Amino acid sequence: MSRAVTAPRPGPYLGIDIGATKVLVGLVTPDGRLLAHSDRVVHSNEGLEEVLARVHEGIGRLGSTAPPIAAGVAVAAQVDPRDGTVLYAPNLRWRDVPLGPRLSKELGVPVRVENDVRAAVWGEWVHGAGRGSTEVLGLFIGTGVGGAVISDGRLLHGARFAAGEIGHSTLVAGGRRCHCPNRGCLEAYIGGWAIAERAQEAVADDPVAGGRLVETAGGGTAITAATVATLARAGDPLATRLANETSDYLAAAAVGLVNAFNPERLILGGGLLAHWPELALGVPGALSERCQPPAARAVTVTFAALRHHASVIGAATLAAASAR
Ligand SMILES: [Zn+2]
Repeated sequence: MSRAVTAPRPGPYLGIDIGATKVLVGLVTPDGRLLAHSDRVVHSNEGLEEVLARVHEGIGRLGSTAPPIAAGVAVAAQVDPRDGTVLYAPNLRWRDVPLGPRLSKELGVPVRVENDVRAAVWGEWVHGAGRGSTEVLGLFIGTGVGGAVISDGRLLHGARFAAGEIGHSTLVAGGRRCHCPNRGCLEAYIGGWAIAERAQEAVADDPVAGGRLVETAGGGTAITAATVATLARAGDPLATRLANETSDYLAAAAVGLVNAFNPERLILGGGLLAHWPELALGVPGALSERCQPPAARAVTVTFAALRHHASVIGAATLAAASAR
């Protein structure tokens, strides 16, 4: 649907990232620099009007700069990018919201709406860790697990714009319950919520081994992925086992994905990996040992470069591509 930007009109472009609890807004130049940004606008998820009020608050905080030519919006949702409709956003509890037309009217500029991980991977491709390649696979691990595929310079959308839901590919048949209708999804093992859940279960099974995890978190049900990361680094045996298992799941998934999509660049990103990059240390070795030879020879593994601004920069860059 979108092709690489070769000669964007002089910017700036507005990038807006609407997540489950906060809104990030940035003014982005055609070459991907953030001129201004506001990161700390929290919304209370009380519906569309409240969230859009926070979007306008974030834009207001950018200060007086050149007016944007167009705006890109990244949403944690399934989105129809042709008309800017948010089809389904479970965390925001939105269904069939005409977000693009609404914001376009309010802002007075064309608005492009895209899924947040797709926008982030697009931003990484044009301005970050994917520069110089044409075949990119992004795997982003935070509380959930998302992904996106760029092939021949195009974002893969799928028949109903749901392509790239890598987190919900089956890793273990009949395995752990996921937040989606399936069982055994990749996300149900390596998403932040799932690491916490696995740790809490391990501690309940073996309270002696789990003593330090419980003590550090302040209770068994308070254990998070961050608790596991901290204690794995400190050499706690149970936390180390959980970390190693998580690394193995990630490596196994990466092998399957590289075999399936044959990317030049595998970009690993998301909040969990930003804070716990050790989880991905085994990925390059697993790819070279276990992928089919042509796919293994083509791929380079990199960490995302744009950090938590990837979706803002990517959405603005998509808007720039659409505005040409
Ligand atoms: Zn799932």
